[in-house]
Amino acid sequence: MELTDLGTIRTLCEKYDFALSKGFGQNFIVNPGVPPKIVDAAGIDRRYGVLEIGPGIGVLTREIASRAGKVVAVEVDKRLPPVLQETLAGLDNVQVVLQDVLKTDLRALMAREFEGMPVVVCANLPYYITSPIIMKLLEEKLPVENITVMVQKEAAERLAAQPGTRASGAVSCAVRYFAQPRVMFTVQAGSFYPAPKVTSAVVRLDIRPTPAVQVPDEGAYFALVRAAFGQRRKTAANAIAAGLGLSRQEVAQALQDAGLDPRVRPEQLTLEDFAAVDAALRAGR
Ligand code: SAM
Repeated sequence: MELTDLGTIRTLCEKYDFALSKGFGQNFIVNPGVPPKIVDAAGIDRRYGVLEIGPGIGVLTREIASRAGKVVAVEVDKRLPPVLQETLAGLDNVQVVLQDVLKTDLRALMAREFEGMPVVVCANLPYYITSPIIMKLLEEKLPVENITVMVQKEAAERLAAQPGTRASGAVSCAVRYFAQPRVMFTVQAGSFYPAPKVTSAVVRLDIRPTPAVQVPDEGAYFALVRAAFGQRRKTAANAIAAGLGLSRQEVAQALQDAGLDPRVRPEQLTLEDFAAVDAALRAGR
């Protein structure tokens, strides 16, 4: 059964009385060249346990299963497991977990399913929750080597943007802190059914053994980063003051102590700059 074939998808939909849901971000891959390219990008081989998020009808799942040691695929749509039972029949290294990935204890799941195996996350993500999923995977410090996911091209660029450059935002800072990102390749809208309005891209985040900068309190550091980007058109000083409930003067002083212009914009700040501002704010208190 060729899962990238539109006829197959229609037959499966009819058989299981399934209609693709926009609400769950269901755009299935129909270009047969794409799944092998994603698995190549993730560097998956038999040694690996792979966590897939959102298997859909299993087109990427099957490619991963043919090359990995084991796949655990977390899917939220309860209409899909019966379909997957048919499309993944005969593969003995795949397990489907019916759950919302954002509500799943992934650490426990990985410990249980991938004991002794290196793990990667590989998925064509539901685009409406790209950032929450990436943030959960990073902040929970899960034992994964890399996260290789297809997302909207703009989201990929944002995830991979270097802090201190125009395209960066709070999520770019979080990604760089925990990982080394790379945009691997783009995928045209016509490679999906239904075709989304936007171009997609596969991004790979290689998790660092230790964060990019050392800070005394990660929670406070990220509160500062989020505050700085909280009000887009403001200077970093105004946004940080508003976001953290500090006086503008106190924040301007901290920026100056960190060797920065008080009129600096948040996207001009590097991870090291944020660490220096964090330290200056602490010293001033
Ligand atoms: N992997 C398939 C493919 O590439 O053709 C489907 C990808 S589709 C873009 C996203 C998948 O994520 C859908 O199957 C959708 O039901 C699932 N999904 C959406 N929200 C989810 C959530 N919160 N937890 C787990 N899966 C979710």
